[in-house]
Amino acid sequence: MLDPLPILSKVFGFPAFRGVQADVVERVLAGERTLAVMPTGAGKSLCYQLPSVMLEGTCVVVSPLIALMHDQLRAATAVGIRAATLTSVDENRAETIARLKAGDLDLLYVAPERASGTHFRDLLMQTKLSLFAIDEAHCVSEWGHDFRPDYRLLGPLMEAFPEVPRLALTATADAHTRADIAKQLGIPTDGMIVSGFDRPNIRYSISARDTIARQIADLIAANPGPGIVYAQTRAATEKLAEQLARTGRPTRAYHAGLDPAIRARNQADFVASEDMVICATVAFGMGIDKPDVRFVAHAGLPKSIEAYYQETGRAGRDGDPSVAHLFWGAEDFARARQRIGEVEPERQAGERTRLAALGALVETGGCRRRILLKHFGENPTEDCGNCDNCLGSSDAVDATETARKFLSAVFRTGQLFGAGYIEQVLLGQSTERSLTNGHEALSVWGIATADEAALVKPVVRALLLRDALRTNAHGGLEFGPGAKPLLKGEAALSVIVPPKRERRRRGTPVA
Ligand code: ADP
Ligand code: ZN
Repeated sequence: MLDPLPILSKVFGFPAFRGVQADVVERVLAGERTLAVMPTGAGKSLCYQLPSVMLEGTCVVVSPLIALMHDQLRAATAVGIRAATLTSVDENRAETIARLKAGDLDLLYVAPERASGTHFRDLLMQTKLSLFAIDEAHCVSEWGHDFRPDYRLLGPLMEAFPEVPRLALTATADAHTRADIAKQLGIPTDGMIVSGFDRPNIRYSISARDTIARQIADLIAANPGPGIVYAQTRAATEKLAEQLARTGRPTRAYHAGLDPAIRARNQADFVASEDMVICATVAFGMGIDKPDVRFVAHAGLPKSIEAYYQETGRAGRDGDPSVAHLFWGAEDFARARQRIGEVEPERQAGERTRLAALGALVETGGCRRRILLKHFGENPTEDCGNCDNCLGSSDAVDATETARKFLSAVFRTGQLFGAGYIEQVLLGQSTERSLTNGHEALSVWGIATADEAALVKPVVRALLLRDALRTNAHGGLEFGPGAKPLLKGEAALSVIVPPKRERRRRGTPVA
């Protein structure tokens, strides 16, 4: 077989393969069907770009985002690869098709909706093909976090070319999704190559959200380099960018609703900067090659552990110490549950499992990295020593008893009242309202000890997260399906409380 190393250095300028790249390239050159699961930044593109240069014919790359394709095209062309994109926005389609037929292309990037049409199939019939590369291959699976129905048509397309090797690539797939991708794309289960997922230089921290701009300002103050703040809405990115500018750091907003020229400029400014903070929706980051991002903050719950891993993975690609901090609120979980209720029934179970996995990551008092790595099928035997829980910046406390008392109080007061009122009942704080309601006579009146007072708020958050409590339309708390196991003593609940010195509000001036 041809030796890829000279091409690796001559064309790409790299002295050696990284991680599993060598194994993947070897399989591809040998014509074997392969699923490569490699974390963001591991160098997936090289796994098909290099063979595309070495093999005779054209490698068809299926990629879900046109913007991403054009980035890839630029990078490939820059190193002298004969590449083109065939998308609805390209005006040189006729030329590209001519080049394809003439055997003048190493790489052809296409979107899945095009790849699945019969026109395209006919075109490929007239072309010498070297490889099918399916990027973001988790999009083919309903179990994945980003299912795209068009991806389903890729299997049948490739079946028309059974002799052409296949390479599916993804950064984000749990064991279940991986198996499904392999099945959908006709890849044997022993054709999977899974790279290590640990990013040891990233320190993971997760805490409850209260005054988000101030919390992120504190994070910024502690982390001088460039950073990304992910917010959930376009408006939130702009508001945060404005608030965080008061810390003195340069800030920009980034979201799909911005004028394309402004968006491109903000992105370019960020890539060039050594201290900028970019407040973005999750639209930001794909295809951006900035190795020195020092922190990634989430102002709200990400969509899934996969998304969290991918988004935090944009920190510290240069290997230097970096920080990932997630701020969450119970309402994030309530909103996520509501969204799940709106998706097609057959996808709800998968979505619920994904949300529960996020809940476990958020709730744990143990090592965060272990939970993350386990999710990706690894089995670390030791705690990482580089996450908030390992570093002891917060303590997990068994709060099962407090949770039961709280649930009882919700029940005895008729599942009508909000958290603040229930807390007063538990602490026995007499008000006109509690008198009028006659709640001071209840068995739950004042049953919380003084020590428990500090636990009540984190307990309420944890109960909402678990769907043991739900907020009704009037702001009152009522039982959800998670309440029963706690009341029956079948489940325990621990909460993380920050140490006292951290509870004091540090004063970075942010309005
Ligand atoms: P992914 O798609 O897995 O997130 P990319 O393909 O964008 O990763 O590659 C990430 C970065 O790593 C790019 O800057 C790329 O040039 C670089 N890279 C890829 N392979 C190697 C290698 N063997 N040696 C050094 N750098 C590499
Ligand atoms: Zn840890």
